[in-house]
Amino acid sequence: MTDYVIPAPQTVSIPVRGGGQFPVRRIYCIGRNYAAHSIEMGDNPDRDPPFFFQKNANNLDASGEFPYPPMSQDVHYEVELLVALKEGGTNIPVAQALDHVWGYAPSLDMTRRDLQGEAKKKGRPWEVGKAFERSAPMGPLEAASDVGHLSSGRIELQVNGAVAQEGDLNQMIWKVPEMIAYLSDYFALEAGDVIMSGTPAGVGPIVRGDVMDVRIEGLQPLSVNVI
Ligand code: MN
Repeated sequence: MTDYVIPAPQTVSIPVRGGGQFPVRRIYCIGRNYAAHSIEMGDNPDRDPPFFFQKNANNLDASGEFPYPPMSQDVHYEVELLVALKEGGTNIPVAQALDHVWGYAPSLDMTRRDLQGEAKKKGRPWEVGKAFERSAPMGPLEAASDVGHLSSGRIELQVNGAVAQEGDLNQMIWKVPEMIAYLSDYFALEAGDVIMSGTPAGVGPIVRGDVMDVRIEGLQPLSVNVI
């Protein structure tokens, strides 16, 4: 038994549809990966090199509830396809990148937009806006061996039954294999790493009592109550 001087934090894991848990190491999130969302955020929609920020593994939450976080008056939804890696590596070629994927899940990159905006303006890091408690609601992970690799299909978020965000996975500026390859040039990826693949246009605020319904073609739907 390891001689820890404080109680060891638990390994974070996310549920798998059909049973089992997927242990999570890191979360990489891509910014501005759909042209229409880049335009709505006032950014250049061209294919500049991608950029990534991180959330913490323990920000993932499959409870179906999103508690409105403190220190913000403007919390936004961003519907995203989550990609979970079963194998890591460095300098992974694009053509082999999908061999590293274990599965996919519907997810939300919840964002304290007011704090993120302030950070952007001051050239500061984004963690206060992005990496707070339970900021990544998600549904159970689905195995690529069951659902295949998702490269096209409708991605949609409904808020209280009305469509708020919609797009197609094939509109990603950087496709999933390209993101894996790119990240692996900068970081040593490992099994358990997770990528959140960016949001289509239509981001907006939620309030307590709202219900967010994620629909990604090829995956089971996810419903999240804002409490
Ligand atoms: Mn996002």
